Amino acid sequence: MNQFEIENKTNTIDISHYVEYTKVLGPYLRSALWVHGCNAGCTGCIAKEMNEEKGTIYDVDELAGLFAGIPNTEGITISGGEPFLQAKSIVTMIEKIRKIRDYGVIVYTGFLYEELDQSEDENIRKMLYNIDILIDGRYIKELDDNIPYRGSSNQRIIQLTDRYQNVMNTYYHAHDKRKIEINVTENKVYLVGVPSEYGLKVWEDFKKKAGGKSGI
Ligand code: SF4
Repeated sequence: MNQFEIENKTNTIDISHYVEYTKVLGPYLRSALWVHGCNAGCTGCIAKEMNEEKGTIYDVDELAGLFAGIPNTEGITISGGEPFLQAKSIVTMIEKIRKIRDYGVIVYTGFLYEELDQSEDENIRKMLYNIDILIDGRYIKELDDNIPYRGSSNQRIIQLTDRYQNVMNTYYHAHDKRKIEINVTENKVYLVGVPSEYGLKVWEDFKKKAGGKSGI
């Protein structure tokens, strides 16, 4: 894990963006959070532009209250950036939300499950034990096989609890196509989801029309 610098703040989270609702980053209606910053440097990383921009610092209590208060969501998907770089803050946020309501957690990480499980950092292990589904491993452009919900074939969709057991076949293993959503805010547009090559092209065209004010 020495290629990553772990931050162990508890009270704040540095984020790039969040959406209240999505259907393309996990089963059911869920929120999504992109934490800011990753130094894995994968070639073809679709979050590169967003990670290079400045993030926004949120108070953990504020963010937990915000997500807990969004009606009709089943849980959250946390991506980035690299979520495990801010493990302590994320664990605090998840624990606070789960004190308020039942909440599913899906995380995308560039680390491997085994690296996280064997980490000497207890915050990393604690975060891992709070996750229902982990999608692990770095994005490898040459292994991008257009299968939905992960970027390349080396990445694994790992069930860490049985919370989503009943929907694994109908959602993750449904032989579906990759889908994206476009999230429009006051002054920016964001791509949500794992895009296909065609989806990425549509997104690039869309970004140009939006004047380049975009994230992912
Ligand atoms: S781990 Fe994810 S966010 Fe980090 S560089 Fe690789 S693809 Fe991008």
